[in-house]
Amino acid sequence: RTILETLYSPLANSTTSILAEDICEHSYERVKKWLDNDQLVVHYQPQIHLQKLTLEGVECLVRLIDDDGILIYPNDFINTVETHGLNQVLLEKVVDRFCADYQQNPKCFADLSISINVSALDLDRLSFPDDLWGKIKTTNIQPQNIIVEITESRAIEQMRVGLDILARLRLKGFQLSIDDFGTGRAVLGNIRKLPYNELKIDRSFVDQLTSNPRTLSLTHDLIQMAHHLGLRIVAEGIEDIQTAEVLRQMHCEIGQGYLYAKPMPLAQLAHWIAQHHADKDKPN
Ligand code: C2E
Ligand code: MG
Ligand code: MG
Ligand code: MG
Repeated sequence: RTILETLYSPLANSTTSILAEDICEHSYERVKKWLDNDQLVVHYQPQIHLQKLTLEGVECLVRLIDDDGILIYPNDFINTVETHGLNQVLLEKVVDRFCADYQQNPKCFADLSISINVSALDLDRLSFPDDLWGKIKTTNIQPQNIIVEITESRAIEQMRVGLDILARLRLKGFQLSIDDFGTGRAVLGNIRKLPYNELKIDRSFVDQLTSNPRTLSLTHDLIQMAHHLGLRIVAEGIEDIQTAEVLRQMHCEIGQGYLYAKPMPLAQLAHWIAQHHADKDKPN
């Protein structure tokens, strides 16, 4: 283990336990019913090129809809999904919903990368790359523009078919991203051997960039090391311009966060994109 890797775990663990406190977990029966009834919506959060300020892609973030029409956020059901094996159903529904949104407004997604979150549990299913490919084929989107985000909650090397699935996804043309880097078991030493294209720095690091010098230098080193591995860097949870500027200076390629836009439904995304382009084309 490098010094950097050793430094990561305690820092990240303290943040995760604070966040864990306000989680309200919905029961298996409820989550299953909502999924079976297609009570879900995908929100899209823009990803911005920090140097050029162009829109590069969107991340798909699922919300369930309860019987009163109230949105339920992933923190309140992902654990139930994963402990009761609902991850495959969730993934299928999310990809179906995205494909339906795409058919409704293909122009909205033209030239963008589309990031999809999958559970590490999905990497235990050999049919996953083919299933995903089959669904994406119904759109005009090339697999190269689909980024599969994986949070390494379990070490992929220890999984039955994890590595094989990653390789198959890459062979189909999909890109792979390691999500929430810094919070889990993932260390750069392991990632080096895996076919990832992108690394997402967790919000708990981004949050502290301008206030905590130790986080700042850690993030700086992380970006350099990840670049040596040929990975593109995305910073998540950017909320202020100072943080964006610090990341830009550290050569982080992509930024995502409330500073630019919150995750939003398709109709709102279309407006946001039109506005974003209008602002960009405005003479200064
Ligand atoms: P994630 O993939 O790391 O997604 C980023 C989360 O941070 C999202 O929360 C997003 O709304 C939030 N976020 C983005 N920018 C900011 C910011 O500037 N400030 C703050 N405070 N938050 C920001 P969300 O949508 O609640 O999702 C939480 C997690 O649930 C996701 O973390 C992802 O791991 C998981 N998730 C979301 N959609 C899916 C899905 O379709 N399938 C699976 N398996 N997991 C999903
Ligand atoms: Mg993600
Ligand atoms: Mg993340
Ligand atoms: Mg996260």
